[in-house]
Amino acid sequence: MQITHGTTAVVEANYDYTYVRLFADNGQYGTGECFFAPGLVAALGDILPLLNGKDPREVDRICRYLWRKGSGAGAVAGYLYNAISGIEAALWDLVGKSAGVPCWQFFGGKMRDEVRIYVDCHAGDNTESWDTMLEAREPQWLKDALQGRPQHEERYEPEMYFRRAQQMVAAGYDAMKFDIDSIVVSTGEELNRPLTRKEMDAMVACVAAAREGAGDSVDVAVDCHWRFAPTEAIRIARALEPYNLLWFEDPCPPENFRDVAEIRALGIVPILTGENLNRRHGFWDLITNRGCDLVAPDIQKCGGMLEGKRIGELAEMQGIRFAPHNISSPLGTLASAHVCATLPNFVALEFHGSDVPFWSDLITRPDVPGPVIQQGRIPLTTAPGLGCELNEDVARKYAKPGETWFA
Ligand code: MG
Repeated sequence: MQITHGTTAVVEANYDYTYVRLFADNGQYGTGECFFAPGLVAALGDILPLLNGKDPREVDRICRYLWRKGSGAGAVAGYLYNAISGIEAALWDLVGKSAGVPCWQFFGGKMRDEVRIYVDCHAGDNTESWDTMLEAREPQWLKDALQGRPQHEERYEPEMYFRRAQQMVAAGYDAMKFDIDSIVVSTGEELNRPLTRKEMDAMVACVAAAREGAGDSVDVAVDCHWRFAPTEAIRIARALEPYNLLWFEDPCPPENFRDVAEIRALGIVPILTGENLNRRHGFWDLITNRGCDLVAPDIQKCGGMLEGKRIGELAEMQGIRFAPHNISSPLGTLASAHVCATLPNFVALEFHGSDVPFWSDLITRPDVPGPVIQQGRIPLTTAPGLGCELNEDVARKYAKPGETWFA
């Protein structure tokens, strides 16, 4: 079995959903998804021809070859791993389809029949779309959804957190996450000053409202996007202790894992981090030093599905739980779900597309009817490969202008 060629397509959703499709000489193909990056499609255009003629069943061999070939562009980290992660998932999809086996079988078999989802609630009400450098944009679907409202209402009122939490409970979720860093006005000086009493009170009020809206039986996590100095992060953790958070995500700048490790050691609130790390080597210091309580590799970025499984097992050996970051379309989300299904220390997988009206319609699943997420869970497939196909009638409607569509 040989790869004949590879192609790409991009859907312009809340982020760029960037797909890789690999075709084989047996007439089958596999599709994977990459985490967005500036220049990613151009990078894939350089990488994909290297795969022609290779046996797609040699997944790890191909990935290690690409690690080496990309060494001059980043060696152990960087956005080439976004490209490699999508290619790796496409290989597993192709191999699974060819063998008639669901991907979870390749990672030791499943430990559960459904994968728990936590829903990202942003900072209350926002409906958003971001380009590859995280600048706000308004594709037509978003203009239609907003109906003249601004996509960012720079007001962070407890009522918005309360209402959003209630909506998500009503939609069937029993785990959710809110951003709290954006409550503090960004001036670039947040790392150099103590938070004001007013800022602390505003954060606490929003988290209290989210907790009240969610109720006491639902898990609530908060994300800080690396925004605060360790002393301030500790103050925030103490202030939020009464709300029994599922986790406190990325409180400090990512450059030095010891910042979060020190907070974690205080035992005030569980710490989660890791969404921008690549390969298990990128997680090594964090995990072996017990720098966090939960690790959050992004399967569309960390190096792929097998690398995600390896990171999860490394974490398990240190008593660290596994809750992957995920902002992808349903295809990438299913790739992540296949990995989550096989890990004993799995907690919940992120869902970041609740405001994208066509999110669930982007794929079809031969053996699972209904929406991708049902009552806060993804029912697992027994269909071969990732167990889904892009619904191209829907996906093509939202194709990013200027990009080719699997051509
Ligand atoms: Mg995050």
